[in-house]
Amino acid sequence: MIGGMIPPFPYRTVPCDPADVMTVDPEGEDQRCVCGSRSFIDSWAVADATGRITIEAQASTDPDEYVVCHGCARIYRNRDLFEAGPANGYAAPCVGRYDETDPAFVADAQTFSLAAYGGPA
Ligand SMILES: [Zn+2]
Repeated sequence: MIGGMIPPFPYRTVPCDPADVMTVDPEGEDQRCVCGSRSFIDSWAVADATGRITIEAQASTDPDEYVVCHGCARIYRNRDLFEAGPANGYAAPCVGRYDETDPAFVADAQTFSLAAYGGPA
């Protein structure tokens, strides 16, 4: 099912509208955030089940982990992405959005980017 309980996140958040969706390519190759950023070409981050951005969640198949948009820091849950098939219009709702000025968010995002992409995003 889409939606459900979301734990408190480890960084400050800003409001996000659940109507803001990630659109998933039917082939599963690419995902496009409502802001226009694309997972296929942009340096997206991933987060563990607590929402903490970490390289350990890279290529995760855990439905309780998250992806975080590079362009706007909206948070999408893996479970919703996995279930974003034809029945759901190939779309997954954002479950939150990080405040990109939170120093803890900035620090973890930079650490992730170095580990995953070898440099700042
Ligand atoms: Zn975005």
